[in-house]
Amino acid sequence: MNPTQTTLLELRDAIAAKKISAKQAVTAYLDRIDQHNNTLNAYHETYADRALQRAQDVDADKVTGPLAGVPIAIKDNLATDWGVTTCSSKILENFRSPYTATAVAKLEAAGAVILGKTNLDEFAMGSSTENSAFGPTRNPWDTHRVPGGSSGGAAAAMAADLCAGSIGSDTGGSIRQPAALCGVVGFKPTYGRVSRFGLVAFASSLDQIGPLTRTVSDAALMLSVISGPDERDSTCASQQPRDYLAEVDQPVSGLRIGVAKQYISDTNDPAVNQAVDEAINMFRSCGAQIVEIDLPHTQYGIPTYYLVATAEASSNLARYDGVRYGRRCDDPKDLIDLYSRSRAEGFGEEIKRRIMLGTYALSSGYYDAYYVRALKVRRLIKRDFDLAFSSCDAILCPTTTAPAFRLGEKSDDPLSMYMNDVYTVNANLAGIPGISLPGGFTTVTHNGTPPQKLPLGIQLLGPVFEETKLLRIARMYESATTHHQVRPSL
Ligand code: GLN
Repeated sequence: MNPTQTTLLELRDAIAAKKISAKQAVTAYLDRIDQHNNTLNAYHETYADRALQRAQDVDADKVTGPLAGVPIAIKDNLATDWGVTTCSSKILENFRSPYTATAVAKLEAAGAVILGKTNLDEFAMGSSTENSAFGPTRNPWDTHRVPGGSSGGAAAAMAADLCAGSIGSDTGGSIRQPAALCGVVGFKPTYGRVSRFGLVAFASSLDQIGPLTRTVSDAALMLSVISGPDERDSTCASQQPRDYLAEVDQPVSGLRIGVAKQYISDTNDPAVNQAVDEAINMFRSCGAQIVEIDLPHTQYGIPTYYLVATAEASSNLARYDGVRYGRRCDDPKDLIDLYSRSRAEGFGEEIKRRIMLGTYALSSGYYDAYYVRALKVRRLIKRDFDLAFSSCDAILCPTTTAPAFRLGEKSDDPLSMYMNDVYTVNANLAGIPGISLPGGFTTVTHNGTPPQKLPLGIQLLGPVFEETKLLRIARMYESATTHHQVRPSL
């Protein structure tokens, strides 16, 4: 077996059956990273010695668990008490965390081998991974294109088989959108399903950690491992984790799939609408009932999200003051100079833009008009979903409006970059779970370049804490299609 051309589950089982050693598996992935990471820039940092030592411990049965020996990548906004935790920002360039994120600790307790940390848009703000202080990540399907963001490194590493599974974070689509653009599965759990302890905060009421994988079953297994209560995160739900994998292969009977007109727009790339149509037909042929639903406040998602997220970000990022964490400017004249120069030098352009937007929305005189109003609209968006789920089990829609765009194409146009999230942000505002699945391919050409095959994503959204059902529905789609089996040629 080639350990880098398999699924997480198959690899896990092969290691457990000692058909392949964990050391062989980890070595194969490290070699592949050596071969391709220069081009893709998916990883910032790898921990070869640490990973090989852990693999040996698995082979010696000193480390056991449901992910024993499985090579995993983690997004570099998850704190680890080894290596650096940079958030792809100059302000945290050399930051060493004194503690480890709960999700990462749970992965290791389950026997996973952490290969390294993946690139992201600085502080997870962006949709292309071009906002990284360490250079952009490239899409393995076409290296002139972005992998999406902000978990672009996680998605590219997954798509290029530089890990068997990876972990990202999703505040407004950062797991699902890059998963769609890179042709892998990306799952954002219900807000509160996974502890945020050790996830560097961007927008605390929206942030959620989740897996990016090759298959739905792989996502189910990883979710079981990382979810569950945590007394160090007061927003983490008290529900015990479930064995999602055990149930994932059970089709949902009497399934009702909701489709909302607000998500099928003429402005979508036609291939995206076609992928959704094909998914509708597939569910119909499985016996599902397709129900038309209405999500009337959908169009307010982007402005609402960009007010709530920037307001929370401006507050969360106040802690980077040159005193407590990370970068500190040279020879400050006084305290104000220390604050302002440390922040001016450390933060990138997009971060500064968001701090200004958020500070404005929270400032006296504007607070009611912007922030409070956004919170009210957020409730309406949540209510749209609550009503919709009274008549369907899951909502089917695109993940993105189009396949991966070219590097640099939207860098000078923040608004068009923000519009990328039009189909993903509402799930975060409502706190509901969502999954992006490989939904097919389209062929594109650019200025006479040879035609390029690019993946498309379809998205399923479910009611809060209905992960089991959502994964089962996703698995029904996956088992009727072969898109997830196609890999980019590197
Ligand atoms: N692209 C969105 C943003 O820039 C979402 C980011 C995320 O989910 N972390 O805010």
